Amino acid sequence: MKILVINSGSSSIKYQLFDMTDKTVLASGLLQQIGESQSRLTHHTRNPRGELEEIVETGHIANHRQGFQLIGIVLQKSGAIDDTAELSGIGHRVVHGGEEFHEPTLINQKVIDTIRRLIPLAPLHNPANLLGIEVAIESAAAVPQVAVFDTAFHQSIPIHAFRYAIPQDLYEAHRVRRYGFHGTSHFYVAKQAATFLNRSLKSLNLITLHLGNGASVAAVKDGKSIDTSMGMTPLEGLIMGTRSGDIDPAIIFYLGRQTGLGRDQVESILNKHSGLKGICGVNDMREIGELAQAGNAQARLAIEMVCYRIKKYIGAYYAVLGQLDALVFTGGIGENASFIRAGSCQGLSHLGIEVDPEKNNIRSKAAFEIQSEDSPVNVLVIPTNEELEIAEETVATLKRNL
Ligand code: AMP
Repeated sequence: MKILVINSGSSSIKYQLFDMTDKTVLASGLLQQIGESQSRLTHHTRNPRGELEEIVETGHIANHRQGFQLIGIVLQKSGAIDDTAELSGIGHRVVHGGEEFHEPTLINQKVIDTIRRLIPLAPLHNPANLLGIEVAIESAAAVPQVAVFDTAFHQSIPIHAFRYAIPQDLYEAHRVRRYGFHGTSHFYVAKQAATFLNRSLKSLNLITLHLGNGASVAAVKDGKSIDTSMGMTPLEGLIMGTRSGDIDPAIIFYLGRQTGLGRDQVESILNKHSGLKGICGVNDMREIGELAQAGNAQARLAIEMVCYRIKKYIGAYYAVLGQLDALVFTGGIGENASFIRAGSCQGLSHLGIEVDPEKNNIRSKAAFEIQSEDSPVNVLVIPTNEELEIAEETVATLKRNL
């Protein structure tokens, strides 16, 4: 059973082809710089001997339609598929599902119209996701397609946690509320944590920390998200690569008055020039770790601030959950930056959270645990795999619907 997973961005298309009988990746690739003079497709296929083979195509790809055609050609050329008829389904990552989508959904015209209606909530992402869906339908009309939403896992958050304390009519008229993102990743690592601990997900209280260039934390009770740090947009919450995370909203008006910066400029500062980049000029945690080691004060401050913010959320969500079975670190930083894991958990032994420094320094592509012998709370490092989760949810949705 072959499932193609598509993550369509504004100038890129990322894809992975899975054989879901054994969950292996048959092929994967990334087409970048769509619309520019030199677009670049990097494609990997596993040959029958199990070796990775690379194909690189460069040239002008004018739009997503041409991009999808090129991907189809390369998938065939590399022997991954002979015909789109071999695909059992195509799963699409869609960033914003609003209040309309609580689970992955088989795509039809009504679903497309709803995703389009939600564009004001995710103006950067939903149009590109939609383009991917439309082009995929054009290229493979007979293949069922499924939308998997970043927001869907968080639709279980109760109203007292998702509402902002602003006038009711703004919520009713404009749907201003917390939606949360990275839902596919939070759900995937929560399930993996249950497998690792040999427990049922329904019996666990977890705090899942997705720490990548974008970062968010979720409180997961009985397998359901009950709170998360990202809000109506991905700007709220933790300190990220270039996003500020939580700030006093009055700063926006103050900056407007003091500097004359317009709304869009302030928005751009908070999304693209803040976070790690704003504090120390660099948004790559690997580089920041090296700078800090070399004594750079701003890089050290960035690390301290990131860990402090994470720690505050761990405390808050511990209080919300009442009892905690495991903390789960994932994402590029969560999986690799042991100093961020250590810093975020430092001083939390009174909450039963204690990291063993030696275990924390293990490097592994598989899940591992890093809590000390005496720590009542498990601290886990679990690699995320959003593409596989989308493929699995696509299969489950097809089974439910067809
Ligand atoms: P993601 O968005 O999940 O791909 O994560 C990207 C972030 O993970 C970047 O800040 C990277 O610097 C960081 N990262 C990846 N590998 C490492 C590593 N070995 N040590 C520290 N940070 C890392």
